Amino acid sequence: MVATSNDVMPDIELYQPTDEANALALAASLGNEGWLLGGGQDTFGWLKDRNKIATAMIELTQVDAWKGIRETADGIEIGAVTTLTDIANDPLVQSRYGLLATAAGKVASPQIRNVGTLGGNLVQDARCWYYRRGLDCYRAGGNLCYADSPEGLNREHAIFGASRCVAVSPSDTAPALVALDATMVISSSSGQRTVPAQDFFVGPARDIENMTVLNDGEILTAVRIPNTWANAEFYFEKVADRNVWDFALVSIATAMKVSGGTVQDARVAAGAVECVPRRLQAVENALRGQQRSEQLADQVASIATNGAQPLNYNHFKVPLLGNLVKRAVRG
Ligand SMILES: Cc1cc2nc3c(=O)[nH]c(=O)nc-3n(C[C@H](O)[C@H](O)[C@H](O)COP(=O)(O)OP(=O)(O)OC[C@H]3O[C@@H](n4cnc5c(N)ncnc54)[C@H](O)[C@@H]3O)c2cc1C
Ligand code: SF4
Repeated sequence: MVATSNDVMPDIELYQPTDEANALALAASLGNEGWLLGGGQDTFGWLKDRNKIATAMIELTQVDAWKGIRETADGIEIGAVTTLTDIANDPLVQSRYGLLATAAGKVASPQIRNVGTLGGNLVQDARCWYYRRGLDCYRAGGNLCYADSPEGLNREHAIFGASRCVAVSPSDTAPALVALDATMVISSSSGQRTVPAQDFFVGPARDIENMTVLNDGEILTAVRIPNTWANAEFYFEKVADRNVWDFALVSIATAMKVSGGTVQDARVAAGAVECVPRRLQAVENALRGQQRSEQLADQVASIATNGAQPLNYNHFKVPLLGNLVKRAVRG
């Protein structure tokens, strides 16, 4: 007798455009039927587990115009299909925007960074295990949150800004780009628009099924980083259960301009504490114009955690965030 399995992956139409116009036309005509594919490191998990299906895919990585790192009059532009390894190893990114090079180098494992793209890293879906297992929670169109329930396991979840869904923004590069005042370039068949990194990510109160402002037919094609923070003093730290192959429990990304021990200006963003990268503007304001000291570090650490609303199993994230902010201020 021959064993048979009905668990066969459905047919997927694969489109592999090599030029920009073709890719944008495909995205427009396929709309929400056209799954955009970077390196597939988030996508393939969904398909392998059979918890989301795709009928058509548009592979973006063969469009040369969306690849590579270029110097511009006002900073640099990184094509959205550039791999995380290329970003982490790029001499220009390393020398001027070390914050991003470090953050990109902390994603997952070398194998995932070799194929994972910046666009995919920024647009990746929530990593809540209930959702990834295919349960019918709010984010999946249902009417409850399994993580935020009396028995819910929510160690990895949000301590700020939840609205029905308590999943966090999982991207390591996102807080770094917020701290660098980056701009996202979004293209579609009807043109291009730009959105500040901070406004690119959206929480569940605005859209519970998507984590970014991208509409059907739109593609993130580049990320621009201005000179504003080039060569500033940077700090990136990611705390996770394991050193590789793991998402942040909390991360911190800071850019500071310090002169004679005084903080002239600062950008501070935290990852994995909210459904979007959390910019800590109150901390930035408290740092500006102050002499760097242990007392200042303590003071801003408590500002950073103000208003946190931990869930049953993630109280540890509150002191962890405070301590990471302290370490960033110490430098
Ligand atoms: C074991 C494991 C560990 C991981 N650890 C981490 C980690 O520590 N930190 C971290 O940040 N991530 C982590 N990831 C998540 C993710 O796989 C990587 O971040 C990777 O960079 C995703 O990029 P990709 O190009 O492979 O994404 P893809 O799977 O190709 O795309 C991801 C999503 O983004 C969309 N998309 C892709 N490119 C674009 C674009 N240009 N415009 C619009 N939409 C686009 C896709 O449609 C898809 O929905 C991990 C993944 C795995 C499997
Ligand atoms: S946290 Fe969000 S993704 Fe997770 S179960 Fe709740 S609604 Fe679903």
